[in-house]
Amino acid sequence: MKNIAILCSGGDVSGMNPALKHFVEYSLQKNLKPFFIYDGFEGLIDDDIKEASYCDVAGIITRGGTKIGSARSTRFMQKEFREIAKQNLDKHSIDMLIVLGGDGSFRGLDIFYKEHGVKFCGIPSTIDNDINGTDYSLGVDTALNIIKTSIDAIRDTASSFKRAFVIETMGRDCGYLALVSHLTSGSELCLIPEIDYDLKSYEENFKTQIENGRRYFIAIVSEGIKQDSQEIADWFENKIGIESRVSILGHIQRGGNPSIYDRLMAYKFITHAIDGLLQGKKESVVCYTKSDFTYKSINEVANIPNKLDSQLLSLIK
Ligand code: ATP
Repeated sequence: MKNIAILCSGGDVSGMNPALKHFVEYSLQKNLKPFFIYDGFEGLIDDDIKEASYCDVAGIITRGGTKIGSARSTRFMQKEFREIAKQNLDKHSIDMLIVLGGDGSFRGLDIFYKEHGVKFCGIPSTIDNDINGTDYSLGVDTALNIIKTSIDAIRDTASSFKRAFVIETMGRDCGYLALVSHLTSGSELCLIPEIDYDLKSYEENFKTQIENGRRYFIAIVSEGIKQDSQEIADWFENKIGIESRVSILGHIQRGGNPSIYDRLMAYKFITHAIDGLLQGKKESVVCYTKSDFTYKSINEVANIPNKLDSQLLSLIK
């Protein structure tokens, strides 16, 4: 029986727990002994590594976050600690790793593989959907659903009180969450880092809409745009003439009960990751592109900047 381990690294996403559940089930099905590494690379360095069983994953499929914890680790950036990490894996006879994380985690794993030959398969997990080479990262659908619920709720109060609401979504330098939320919630304005904007160009149109009876505006802005959300709200008050409020959705976007899509994708990502390792893939990331799964190199995934899908972008223009 071979040993295989999983860890979560970087920001947690909803969908990690369903992935952990299937990791245990599918490993056992494939005659592998599954191990959990707690708190990301930190747990790898501190030997917080334990064999996992069905009992560990019972009842976790409905929960956001990750049962085994996630972390960022400055120590893992240093060679001496990666050596300790390797010794810990050897203690448990583990030479296959699955990592739920982002491009930073994959870069770390790549270095680890080159130094110590520990085979790994990465599973893109970030709500920002900003990893190059994959159309989908675990957690995105749940985040979008949380944003949808929030916008729908804010719309109720915005319309009652004649207000403009500036709703800020996460995404770092990627406008995916804001753009998709805009297209699917019927907001009046969407600002994302990928598109230059000039607020002045909306002024006449928005004022006319108020004259024609519009009671409220919803603006969805991505956290990575050049202005902060309060400045956009001030613009609504000062230039459009409507009372405004800012709502920064923040970390609620990362939690919550995993959506059906994320539960299903978690299963599929894990299946492909384990299959890939068993087929002899040594350093790859499972990507989901054009409705299919492929294995891509770290170079393609972690070292090439991601671009927002041009078809999606054209919808906002
Ligand atoms: P998120 O999308 O949530 O930011 P991420 O995986 O990109 O996820 P990072 O903070 O960039 O998050 O990386 C996670 C961890 O990966 C780091 O804390 C560090 O331990 C490890 N790591 C990243 N880059 C390297 C590197 N060049 N060498 C060694 N380890 C690295």
